[in-house]
Amino acid sequence: MIEAFEKEELRNVLWDIRASQKTIGFVPTMGFLHDGHLSLVKNSVEKCDFTVVSIFVNPAQFGPNEDLDNYPRDYEQDKKLLENAKTDLIFYPEKESLYPDGFSTWVVEDKLSKVLCGKSRPTHFKGVLTIVAKLFNIVQPDFAFFGQKDYQQLLLIKKMVKELDFPIEIISCPIVRESDGLAMSSRNKYLSDKERSDSLVLPRIIFEIEKAFQDGESNTKNLISLKDKIISDSNSKNVKLEYFEILNSDNLEPLDKIEKSALVAIAGKCGSTRLIDNIILK
Ligand code: AMP
Repeated sequence: MIEAFEKEELRNVLWDIRASQKTIGFVPTMGFLHDGHLSLVKNSVEKCDFTVVSIFVNPAQFGPNEDLDNYPRDYEQDKKLLENAKTDLIFYPEKESLYPDGFSTWVVEDKLSKVLCGKSRPTHFKGVLTIVAKLFNIVQPDFAFFGQKDYQQLLLIKKMVKELDFPIEIISCPIVRESDGLAMSSRNKYLSDKERSDSLVLPRIIFEIEKAFQDGESNTKNLISLKDKIISDSNSKNVKLEYFEILNSDNLEPLDKIEKSALVAIAGKCGSTRLIDNIILK
């Protein structure tokens, strides 16, 4: 496995790969890898001739009072996991090389980025889209792999690729969960034991909603109202919901009744850790 710390090193390697007609798959991450990330890598390794994984904790997507400085990092461990997963190249750039002094060019989306996570994190998606656009320009992959765990991010990236004409196919990969249902996240590491068990209320809500939908309930107000009982039954004092919404899964617009499919999206703070989860009802 090749390690590249500079854009130029990476470009030199990929130049040869492209010249030999190999397909390039790309998995952008912020590191502290878990099986969710590794499932994206596996998909890329299966589909593409050459797989690039980037590890970069992107300062631009963190708000002023968020966890940038504490975000978990373990490059040596990530490197081992990526080697085992048959990654061909890790890109591990310095902040200064991606955001040199005076950086002021941004990618901003004006619609989908305003709802759900965008309400409490107003500059988050501007940071995400800008770094992903930069990484796409640096790596120039044929395919890029993203998790449905960050469903809004996935929709925004698909939209950016379409509207800004990136010649890249976006592949979405299912959410990987712990055995008790909690969606895997690098941030789960922050949870105390009590918070960890309380956090299960998030998957419990979305799976109960899924069950009610499968049992025939399609009115979104009725579905949303089920959450109160689940929360009081679960006695999860450490969790404070930020949003719980059922929306059109293509454009994130509100829905009164689910006709074909819908996104159920939830976010909450468990202690000081912000967690998100979602499910697509079909
Ligand atoms: P992050 O390192 O959190 O920026 O995530 C990098 C990529 O991994 C994103 O495309 C995420 O959606 C994806 N990802 C994170 N957690 C999971 C998970 N539990 N299941 C599937 N994909 C995930």
